[in-house]
Amino acid sequence: MNPNNTLYIVVPCYKEQEVLPETSKRLREKILALRAAGKISDKSRVMFVNDGSSDDTWPIISRLHEQEPGVFSGVNLSRNRGHQNALLAGLMTAVNYADMIVSMDADLQDDINAVDAMVDAYHEGFEVVYGVRSKRDTDTFFKRFTAEGFYKVMKALGVDIVFNHADYRLMSRRAVEGLAQFSEVNLFLRGIVPQIGFKWTTVTYERAERFAGESKYPLKKMLAFAADGITSFSVKPIRLVLSAGVVVFLVSLVMLLYALISKIMGGTAAGWTSLMGSIWLIGGIQLLSLGIVGEYIGKIYNETKRRPRFIIENVLNK
Ligand code: UDP
Ligand code: MG
Repeated sequence: MNPNNTLYIVVPCYKEQEVLPETSKRLREKILALRAAGKISDKSRVMFVNDGSSDDTWPIISRLHEQEPGVFSGVNLSRNRGHQNALLAGLMTAVNYADMIVSMDADLQDDINAVDAMVDAYHEGFEVVYGVRSKRDTDTFFKRFTAEGFYKVMKALGVDIVFNHADYRLMSRRAVEGLAQFSEVNLFLRGIVPQIGFKWTTVTYERAERFAGESKYPLKKMLAFAADGITSFSVKPIRLVLSAGVVVFLVSLVMLLYALISKIMGGTAAGWTSLMGSIWLIGGIQLLSLGIVGEYIGKIYNETKRRPRFIIENVLNK
């Protein structure tokens, strides 16, 4: 068993006053049970991150901390920055105190009991443990269809993400420190965490329905999130433009030949050949140029992210 065993459970909360009383109660029980079992230290905490909620979320969190500082702690963001940023704020704060950090949603959709398996995996030496949904019975058909489609599109675009894994996961302190080295602003944690590496595994759980309140991810936010994920990790769309450019250019040469031959054979209207030729040739050249410019923009985009080029796991040097 790993002696470094302080666990922080980081929970981003945006207008979650309806669920917080129940969530805090259950997380408290979980922390106490894990402590009693000797799996986590007495310094372990539940850390709620208030993502600029306008309701009673922060007052509830502060009260919890006042009543039981040995279990609850809180982080208050200056305004709403969105789930991914709130989560990052929590991780970066917790990493100062914790040896392992579990992140989960506030609405109890993530089965709290999976934390046990995650902590066990940590003690077995895994540094990243992904919570993976076993089924999506409780999601609406629409949510399931769009969400699973999203994972498939990401895979097709060559982005390394874990299927049906949201942001319910355990990370070791080292893994979170690795994450801290990614300085990009467009944060898509599900794509970045696999880039960090280290020994990882998955734990499956059944996703429940939201305990109370309503989803803070309406379709508009979901689409923005998906677009962010794709454009933050893949330059394949640019390559697609380039390939299209090459194809259109080649076709344009054939069309040019065809137009010339038709003209020589006679029977074409005046101006048809030159029009045909210019439309195809210009179109092809434009698309090709756009693709080439895109390639350079793709390079710039990768450079500006300044991702760490490596993260060392071990060094042997006596
Ligand atoms: N959340 C957040 N900031 C936001 C939107 C959501 O911190 O701007 C939190 C929210 O409180 C919850 C988690 O992100 O803990 C996931 O949100 P939600 O459950 O509404 O998303 P869904 O499960 O419907 O995809
Ligand atoms: Mg939810």
